[in-house]
Amino acid sequence: MTEFGERRRWFQEALDGAELDGALISSPVNVRYLTGFTGSNSLLLMSSAGAELFTDPRYTVQIEQEADAEKKTVATGTLLKAVCTSVRRRRMRTVGFEGLHLTYDSYARLSAALGEKINLKSLGRELEERRAVKSESEVGAIRQAVKINSEAYEKALKRFKAGMLESELALELDYQMRRMGAECPAFDTIVASGAHAALPHAHPRAVPIETNALLLVDMGAQANGYASDMTRMALPGKPSRRAVKLYRAVLEAQQEAIRATRPGATAASVDQAARRVLKSAGLDSLFIHSTGHGLGLEIHEHPRIGKTEKSALQAGMVITIEPGVYVEGWGGIRIEDTVLVTAGGCEVLTPTGKELRVL
Ligand code: ZN
Ligand code: ZN
Repeated sequence: MTEFGERRRWFQEALDGAELDGALISSPVNVRYLTGFTGSNSLLLMSSAGAELFTDPRYTVQIEQEADAEKKTVATGTLLKAVCTSVRRRRMRTVGFEGLHLTYDSYARLSAALGEKINLKSLGRELEERRAVKSESEVGAIRQAVKINSEAYEKALKRFKAGMLESELALELDYQMRRMGAECPAFDTIVASGAHAALPHAHPRAVPIETNALLLVDMGAQANGYASDMTRMALPGKPSRRAVKLYRAVLEAQQEAIRATRPGATAASVDQAARRVLKSAGLDSLFIHSTGHGLGLEIHEHPRIGKTEKSALQAGMVITIEPGVYVEGWGGIRIEDTVLVTAGGCEVLTPTGKELRVL
């Protein structure tokens, strides 16, 4: 059985347990997870009779080549209409849908088309939770994304020149990632110099990178559908005492959180480990986001490594560890690695050194 087949078998058992006759999967990422299909327009109807994947005629060739499903249907009308026909033909009474993803408009149309005799029931987070624990092949794809990410960073920094714009360095990073086989950046590359780095999700500007000021780069590659995520700090010129002091505190917080990362530890305890270090340095009020997040087919996945996240880490999860401090008008510092939770603790996948890089 293929990996997709195994995932569907697991999901079908969950549906049987929940006494659902079937389930409609509408989010492209979950369709991809269950079938491998990457087309932009699809619906997947799961039932004990097998999975039926629907798409439109633009994907006639792609669905044949790419998708792993018991039945593939290229609909000439709307996919929703084709799904409803199939639901009725299979005499389903209770059908699960993705309450997390299906728009209200699509839900209303689905509900009207199926009529009163067929019940719709929102699925929980089972798929998202299962996706958090990666298989060997998924970890392999993430390792590849991490490698491209780190090599692209080195190559792009070699091309750094005084007076370079933030947007030029961002473009160079993206170019190098694609050159090395990334399908695309995993998210919009962040290059933020000086005070601009006080915005955790800064957009690169057409503004020269400052000398003697910190430079934040947050980047990720997507390879075989899977994301990597890394933040590093560099400094063209000479670091100030304040920059060095804050950098050391963030690095210590990041390393403490990595030490706390192991199976059975709650996501909150990893977050707390980073927060404790920053608190003892008097910097905790400047740490304004959570310590990390799961990643995989999406850049932000379950679990969130945050204060209130009670879920326990499991071997096979891939998460980021990325504490940071942000000072309005001055700048920001964040250090981020992609980390695999292993049976014995964790493995930092990101190979890039964590010294403050003077350019
Ligand atoms: Zn990041
Ligand atoms: Zn991140």
